[in-house]
Amino acid sequence: MEHQIHLEPIKKYHYTKIIATIGPATHSYEVVLHMVQAGVDGIRINFSHGNDEERKEQIGWVRKASKETGKPIAIIQDLQGPKIRLGDFDGVVTVQAGQSLRFRYGADYEREGTLPVQYDLSKKVKRGERLYLYDGKVRTVVSSVKDDVVHARAENDGILISRKGINLPDTDFEGDILTKKDKQDIVFGSENDVDYVALSFVQTADDIEQLRVLLDNLGSTAKIIAKIETKAATEQLEAIVAVADATMVARGDLAVETEAEFVPVFQRKIVTLGMKYDKPTIIATQMMASMTESPEPTRAEVNDIATAVFIGADAVMLSDETAAGKHPIKAVQIMERVIKHAQESGLLNSSYVTESIDSHTKQGAISSAIITLADSLGVSAIVAETKSGATAFKISSRRSHHPIIAVTSVARVAQQLALVYSVKSFIRKDEHLQAQKFTDWLKTQNVLKKGDVVITVSGQHPGVVGTTDTIKVRAIE
Ligand code: PGA
Ligand code: MN
Repeated sequence: MEHQIHLEPIKKYHYTKIIATIGPATHSYEVVLHMVQAGVDGIRINFSHGNDEERKEQIGWVRKASKETGKPIAIIQDLQGPKIRLGDFDGVVTVQAGQSLRFRYGADYEREGTLPVQYDLSKKVKRGERLYLYDGKVRTVVSSVKDDVVHARAENDGILISRKGINLPDTDFEGDILTKKDKQDIVFGSENDVDYVALSFVQTADDIEQLRVLLDNLGSTAKIIAKIETKAATEQLEAIVAVADATMVARGDLAVETEAEFVPVFQRKIVTLGMKYDKPTIIATQMMASMTESPEPTRAEVNDIATAVFIGADAVMLSDETAAGKHPIKAVQIMERVIKHAQESGLLNSSYVTESIDSHTKQGAISSAIITLADSLGVSAIVAETKSGATAFKISSRRSHHPIIAVTSVARVAQQLALVYSVKSFIRKDEHLQAQKFTDWLKTQNVLKKGDVVITVSGQHPGVVGTTDTIKVRAIE
């Protein structure tokens, strides 16, 4: 499939990647293609909305756009998780501080005055726990749970509307966060070519292990993204980062479940832990919120994106901006420009890069050697063969700020690497000296030019995981 593909010179690659959420505003092949051309590296499909037919269509468009542009794209299946919502009722319910409210699974508000919930809360919540409604706009405390009815006292005045979200910052789901719907969606994902599965409202590392068992049983090779958006998760961040394959700073719910001012602190901690464990980190929610309506971002939003770049985030994500916004393409284009400008400033704050935990393993030591060489020679690129992607994940996590060209025979791996900091992935067959051959090809494509110095990383046994053992320095002639 080597038809005419336009490749950028190496200096033009953006290192921090862009994820766009697909939705009604971007629901066509043309718009998906346009987003990919504008710089999108990953597409998030939010399984809280839409139906399987639409999702199949969307996945088809992403793969087609990827072929068209020669660019591997990561497809992220974002599971709804125990995202609890109010059920349906008419109009607006006014709430006053001190008022007692009742909630029940499937209640009929008009008849009983009990608010309907799309989930049986009574099985999980306990007296004294906080129950927040409508993104924290209405705050209540549970006063009792009687049979299947939850009684709670409002702490402030506000309004409630049908289907608004509920947050339970104190409630322990005791390892039971995957709903029946999630389990069905996981089967769909395993049959429909998703690269990452994002798990919402993770509370413990064990939640990740449970999802891993389900994926393994289905024969899925998707990687797991832990969405950090509960108070419980913030209490065991390191354990979660260690077992997940990637992490998302899900700032929307995280702000409701903790406090808004905690979010930038967790964001920085999570990115730093990601580097330590070679796990990519995605910063999500409200990065360009004003662009849902406005054609220009605010100054603060531009700053937020640049900050993500400076602290070394692997990816930044657009949600409503591309799912339902008025300027989806423009949001991607501006994001891309901001990333590149921040990157080219050279002000990346590598003092936050901690030493990888496995510098003393063979793979860890090889990666350290590659980085040392790359830094002292000031190379143009690191070209690495990789079967599982591990070599690329590992080199990337050191944030040496050199482009990493990853060559793999596995499409899934190339797609997963699309979200990884400074990695540009390509699919080629396993072959002896592939890294060297691929370097020659990059020169013919003007990606590399005469005088560039590159490091090639390869193994004696192409296609066998964990056999990387050869590092070469090469000047392009
Ligand atoms: P969501 O997750 O968009 O699925 O809610 C992200 C967040 O909570 O920030
Ligand atoms: Mn969320």
